[in-house]
Amino acid sequence: MTYEPTIGLEIHAELKTRTKMFCDSLNDPDEKHPNVNVCPVCLGHPGTLPVINKKAVEEVIKVGLALGGEIAERTKFDRKNYFYPDLPKGYQISQYDMPLVIGGELNGIRLERIHLEEDAGKLIHEGSPSGSSGQSASLIDFNRAGVPLMELVTKPDIRSAEQAVEFAKEFQLILKYLGASDADMEKGQMRADVNVSLNMGTKVEVKNVNSFRSIASAVKYETERQRELLERGEKVKQETRGWDDVKQVTTSQRSKEEAHDYRYFPEPDLPPLASHEAFPIEKMKAELPELPAEKRERFAREFNLNENQAKLLIENKFLADYFETATSELATRDADPSGKLPHKSQVLLFNYLTSDLVGLINESGIEYSELKITPENMAELVDYIADGKITTKQAKDILKVMFETGESPENILGQGNFNLIEDEVLHQAVEDVLKENPSAVTDFASGKTAALQFLVGKVMQKTKGGADPGEIQNKILEKLRG
Ligand code: MN
Repeated sequence: MTYEPTIGLEIHAELKTRTKMFCDSLNDPDEKHPNVNVCPVCLGHPGTLPVINKKAVEEVIKVGLALGGEIAERTKFDRKNYFYPDLPKGYQISQYDMPLVIGGELNGIRLERIHLEEDAGKLIHEGSPSGSSGQSASLIDFNRAGVPLMELVTKPDIRSAEQAVEFAKEFQLILKYLGASDADMEKGQMRADVNVSLNMGTKVEVKNVNSFRSIASAVKYETERQRELLERGEKVKQETRGWDDVKQVTTSQRSKEEAHDYRYFPEPDLPPLASHEAFPIEKMKAELPELPAEKRERFAREFNLNENQAKLLIENKFLADYFETATSELATRDADPSGKLPHKSQVLLFNYLTSDLVGLINESGIEYSELKITPENMAELVDYIADGKITTKQAKDILKVMFETGESPENILGQGNFNLIEDEVLHQAVEDVLKENPSAVTDFASGKTAALQFLVGKVMQKTKGGADPGEIQNKILEKLRG
């Protein structure tokens, strides 16, 4: 018997707002000191009243529109009651039966809903586990308590671990493109719960799946675990399991709670929200930025990039925008006559961006936004290479200086630290070497390829290492064949 997995995802993402969901405490995920960004409201003191963060609602509406969901005319908040030390009020303000966004679709997977709620605080367990002789304590940090959180729920349309990961990656990218969330999974800004059932049978929910790799592993593990149970003639228990990233297994946490366990009821301290009156929905839809899928398609078309190249650029919005600006600044346009291939300078630009520049950025640990090299200067560097004015070795060295100082290639070259090989000089050197070494030329003509390396070496000597071996070889071949 074959077993078809049916997978659904619930993804939580912290919204990028200045303040928290229901108070004006700062929403600062980088705050290192515990319990700094707190106030009586997010600490749940008696008598305090929540106020809806307009910006948070706006961000979720944007996400909903980007995913083709319907923005509810009227929406409300509800209390989800449960007890846990990281939840100071004893309930979470969430949305139960009237979510802000209904339906939608991404990567062919239908969405159930998107709603808005608040995050809980963070528990930090210190020392050795209780029961052993060492000290142990659980500390609590309420900086995260009350941070705006959106929850997206898919329909069980996903059929494989790979598809689940693709979905989560694309959703993360859309959040970043919209600026709704940084959605950094390592920082816990985006977290997934995975629902898995086999052949539409009992559904098991796996909580705390906090990386793309874990999403794939959890789906595979749970599929396999349930298949073994069914093959032994046993039943799959409806329950909530946790993903253990160290052991790479799911473990039973509790039997699945039902909605009524949470005793949901409408939040009495907040009015219902008339979304279409409070927000210019149509205008917001018209003003959505270009989304990753559209950009991928346009880049492939406009710049003749292949699918993988377009994908690589679009994964990083900064790099995609940077490439687009720099491309328009390129002076060298040795286009392929058929118009089907990207021109040589554009390929050079792509390669320098995705390997050398990304390498420098990663090595130095700076943020992309801190990059000192302008797209214009990057294009200038590529022009120098394309024109054969500098060697690839020199280009890499100049790029390093540009990276440190933000200066233009022209300025850096003007300081005289780099020997420029003018095209004519290289040309002359090649002519001279061919004239001075007629026997090597004859050897090459009769098929001795080693003679070519000999000639390249001679030209390198003549140009004192200032020219690129690949470039020299091309020039020699041009001469010998032409
Ligand atoms: Mn939730």
